[in-house]
Amino acid sequence: MGIFYVISGPSGAGKTTILKRILESVENLTFSVSYTTRPKRPNEVEGVDYFFVSEDEFKALAKKGEFVEWALVHGYYYGTSKKFIEEKLSNGFDIVLDIDVQGALNIMQKYNNAVFVFLAPPSFESLKERLRKRKTESEKDFLKRVEDAKWELSKIPLFDYLVINDSVEVAVKNIESIIRAERLKIERFKTDGGEYI
Ligand code: 5GP
Repeated sequence: MGIFYVISGPSGAGKTTILKRILESVENLTFSVSYTTRPKRPNEVEGVDYFFVSEDEFKALAKKGEFVEWALVHGYYYGTSKKFIEEKLSNGFDIVLDIDVQGALNIMQKYNNAVFVFLAPPSFESLKERLRKRKTESEKDFLKRVEDAKWELSKIPLFDYLVINDSVEVAVKNIESIIRAERLKIERFKTDGGEYI
């Protein structure tokens, strides 16, 4: 079985930027591409960043049980594909999810072996600043994301690791270290025959 990593935290904490770097530097790690009803941003690629679907398509997929979890995040639907995750994990691939905190809490109920990393901004003020600079959302979306972030930060104690994104370089190194250390845990080496080496 592969290892299941969940990177979560408020939007604007830098999850996407940091994860892109990690996927380049850590071998044998696959990104789980989610479905969303959010409009595509100019730099995004269909099937790479997300599968962009209409609300009707999303609801049909949810009804068919295609999602291991789904959530309404800041007014749009986001869902993790069950098939994708289970196939990769059972084929021995490590996977990493970039999901909001509600989604991470749902995954905690279903996959107790997953590794949960909370990526936090250095301060609440800096989070607001980052969301404001991003300019990809309307003012209404911005205010909603700030409000959601307050609730999300209150869930930090439920996670396994906390990484503060003071500097992208350091945050990338810290998450890489978590991934590598998790791979070296004794339990990961145990074979069906009960041997370790
Ligand atoms: P964005 O629209 O900025 O790409 O993402 C908004 C938020 O949705 C981020 O916090 C991101 O982690 C989260 N997100 C992305 N995919 C999923 C998913 O499949 N499920 C859940 N619950 N959240 C997701």
